[in-house]
Amino acid sequence: MIIDGKVISSKRKDDLKIKIEDIKLKGKRIPKLTVVLVGENPASQTYVRNKAKGCEYVGMLSDVIKLDEMTSQDELVSLIHELNRDESVDGILVQLPLPKHIDEDVILDLIDPSKDVDGFHPQNVAKLMLGQSGLVPCTPKGMMVLLDEIGYDLTGKEVVVVGRSNIVGKPVAMLCLHKNATVTIAHSRTKDLKEVCKRADVVICAIGKAKFFNHEYFNENAVVLDVGINRDENNKLCGDVDYDDVKDKVYAITPVPGGVGPMTIAMLLENTLEAYTNREGE
Ligand code: NAP
Repeated sequence: MIIDGKVISSKRKDDLKIKIEDIKLKGKRIPKLTVVLVGENPASQTYVRNKAKGCEYVGMLSDVIKLDEMTSQDELVSLIHELNRDESVDGILVQLPLPKHIDEDVILDLIDPSKDVDGFHPQNVAKLMLGQSGLVPCTPKGMMVLLDEIGYDLTGKEVVVVGRSNIVGKPVAMLCLHKNATVTIAHSRTKDLKEVCKRADVVICAIGKAKFFNHEYFNENAVVLDVGINRDENNKLCGDVDYDDVKDKVYAITPVPGGVGPMTIAMLLENTLEAYTNREGE
């Protein structure tokens, strides 16, 4: 089975569109996402553009604040304070990575947790750990939706997450645990990675290495979620999984592009509406 993230994310965005239309019909304030981009990183510019497009599609307001590469940490701190106070802003997203002279942790910690639509604030991270409701990081949340949409129940399943980053590996592992899976988090120091992956019912590949995983890493019943966004030897977009080698040898797989990636933006929009609803009430 090919898990089509494009179709599933479109469906979620269309559901959102209806909810936003309803808000407009009621004459209420429209939800708004503000994205802050510092510098000229081309990949970041594309991500930010797509986020703004997503907002436009579902009918939300969006504001992209572009700052010069040389913007100081103090200037960015002042901007975040201002956005925290701005009643018209529901979601604040600071596009990562930030230039080296700015401490990302300092900035992310300043964002009002109730507007932290990326779910990276320590308060939201703690809520995720504790199983309390809070804003959940978009890519991990998107993967849970994909599993849900294919009717895959994680109860009692063995999940191996390869990659232990704060934005993907750790949060998705926690979400799987909350769904009663038995979870292993693997990383660059894991021994016998092939064997560890091979026994899993679900393998989440999030290491950022083009086509690293071939069919030898998976059993024939495996569900493979490929988070990687990489370029292959021909500069073509590809995942961490060697898709052509693996797709016919597992139960289900997400392609790259068109798998996990499109879900991330859909979940960002859902988080923005959630932040709005938390502030405004239903
Ligand atoms: P990251 O912060 O660079 O973390 C990579 C993780 O992979 C680390 O934990 C690292 O282990 C582990 N790793 C690296 N090489 C390995 C190997 N050979 N075997 C086992 N583990 C290995 O990456 P990230 O931010 O989580 O992103 C991962 C990938 O997902 C990237 O390609 C990124 O572009 C993509 N991504 C996609 C989306 C989306 O929307 N689809 C969102 C976010 C990220 P150590 O900790 O031991 O170093």
